[in-house]
Amino acid sequence: MNSTNTHIDCKTCRTHMPDLLLDDSYAAEHPELSTHLASCTDCATELHDLRATMELMDAWTAPEPSPYFDSKMHVLLREEQAKQPEGLWERAKSFLLYSTGRGLRPAMSGALACAMLIGGGTFGLYVHQAQATSSATVNDLRILDNNAQALQQMDQLLDDSDDDGPPPVS
Ligand SMILES: [Zn+2]
Repeated sequence: MNSTNTHIDCKTCRTHMPDLLLDDSYAAEHPELSTHLASCTDCATELHDLRATMELMDAWTAPEPSPYFDSKMHVLLREEQAKQPEGLWERAKSFLLYSTGRGLRPAMSGALACAMLIGGGTFGLYVHQAQATSSATVNDLRILDNNAQALQQMDQLLDDSDDDGPPPVS
């Protein structure tokens, strides 16, 4: 047995604590733990507290519901079922007021979907506008191109008319 087995640090000791608590023969198999616990007050206190918590957990039993619980619950359920269905606004309000995080999650995803729809719509509008602007630019370019073609044709016409006349004397 070397020194690393006989002297362990607090961290190692604490990683073995669950085994010490759950397995009675674990302490006998690992005497270095007992050595450390005998010399280290912190670890000994920690183990003692853990053992006390475990004993409390073992002693704790869930309280039995009242014998009238089921019948009361059924009466309440029947009353709720017999009620007139509330309006959409009332239901939404009670949902927001009394729902837990679990119930709120679909609402959140619904809101997100709405935001995405609105966002997508805005994006679509933006794309539409971008297309409109781009087509306007294309139109401008076409007009410029047509103008250039017209000027070219006029130049050609002028050149042709020049050709008809006598060549210019330079
Ligand atoms: Zn220790």
